[in-house]
Amino acid sequence: MKVFNTLTRQKEEFISLVPGEVKMYVCGPTVYNLFHIGNARTFIVFDTIRRYLEYRGYKVKFVQNFTDIDDKMIKKANDEDTTVKELGDRYIDEYYKDADGLKIKRASINPRATEYINEIIDFVQGLIEKGYAYEINGDVYFSTKKFSGYGKLSGQNLDDLQAGARINVDERKSDPMDFAVWKAQKPGEPAWESPWGMGRPGWHIECSCMAKNLLGETIDIHAGGSDLVFPHHENEIAQSESLTDKTFANYWIHCAFLNVNNQKMSKSLNNFFTVREVLEEYDADVVRFLMLSGHYRVQLNFSHDLLDSAKASVERLYNSITNLQHLYGNVSRDNINEEETKYLQGLNAYRERYIEKMDDDFNTADAISVLFDLAKDINTNIDANSSKELIQGAIDLMRELGSPLGILQHSKKVSLEEEVEKLIEERQKARKEKNWALSDKIRDDLKARGIVLEDTPQGVRWKQI
Ligand code: AMP
Ligand code: ZN
Repeated sequence: MKVFNTLTRQKEEFISLVPGEVKMYVCGPTVYNLFHIGNARTFIVFDTIRRYLEYRGYKVKFVQNFTDIDDKMIKKANDEDTTVKELGDRYIDEYYKDADGLKIKRASINPRATEYINEIIDFVQGLIEKGYAYEINGDVYFSTKKFSGYGKLSGQNLDDLQAGARINVDERKSDPMDFAVWKAQKPGEPAWESPWGMGRPGWHIECSCMAKNLLGETIDIHAGGSDLVFPHHENEIAQSESLTDKTFANYWIHCAFLNVNNQKMSKSLNNFFTVREVLEEYDADVVRFLMLSGHYRVQLNFSHDLLDSAKASVERLYNSITNLQHLYGNVSRDNINEEETKYLQGLNAYRERYIEKMDDDFNTADAISVLFDLAKDINTNIDANSSKELIQGAIDLMRELGSPLGILQHSKKVSLEEEVEKLIEERQKARKEKNWALSDKIRDDLKARGIVLEDTPQGVRWKQI
């Protein structure tokens, strides 16, 4: 399996630290509001990568944090006259509602930054002891100059970064590129006791610390949206590798933005749609299909038209499954015959192609095309003369290949109208093929259920008696 590694800027063979196991850390949301469909792209992409790794037989330990203490949390809690803790609790609940709604699998662990204060303090202390961090009046800063690898993830060197950096007069750090790992308490802010006085952790340190505590000093995959490459992930590497002298993460995976009119969807630009409002109108399958219809490293535009066309595509795939389910209920032969066995084995070629696409840096767009090819093949070759066993095999394959993408898993309830219309269509087909036995059987089966067919010059009519 090949994975594009932001760190080396190339596709690399994926080799996990422990064979058959993957330790994966994804930067999660700051829990001060409902998450939007842009955040959802990132979460859906990493959920899909996780599902695919599991599909390929890996046991995945998947950690995604909640940032439940930072400036935005504090401001929002003040505005709402509530506590940061209450705000966090509330929006974590809301996060689960939306993430579940999008069929995002629950993480193995969702740690909250505020649950790791003691471990964070130990981490900061360790950095100070090794000479990588220094304290000024209750703030602790990481000294970027001390870490020789600084800039390796974002491909910038410290001199360039320094030239572009703005010096903020409020900050007391000795170098503009240094960043806070611990922040002294300001009036009215929540704070915890530490060797440097009352304060709270910086943002970057929480991920370094929780990844280390929950997954170990070196992990397989670290992931997040592409806006996190710099400074967040660059800073995480600096902190973690300075403390442990080990590689922090072997593979760095970043998801490109979801845009609106070619601008990043974000709260600050006010061009966002919440997951909640989108899910009111569209099924999770449709949202996931849209997000996975492009490659995760390519920016994707969001619009309602695209959602509508994703909806039509998903319906086409579901129709194949619904048709098969419907056939299954009506065919009389249970067991697969020799010719069918050969055909079913032939369908394995779609699985192979699908795996080939997904193994190539999770090319979900091409994997989806394979699903359509499979659906087309099934639609043309499986019919009322097929056996139940073959039909079930085809349904299972569609669902199997849908599952890493998190689509095609539910059974749609077929309405009586839809079912009868389908049976009538099949009866017409059987009659055209002079398959009188089948056409009579369909008519009799329907009659047994109280549905009477009437052949009229305008076509077949039906009524329920
Ligand atoms: P935040 O709550 O802003 O920290 O974002 C949570 C996750 O969503 C991070 O991994 C971000 O990189 C990602 N993200 C934010 N906006 C977008 C967007 N428009 N498209 C894709 N990912 C995004
Ligand atoms: Zn993070």
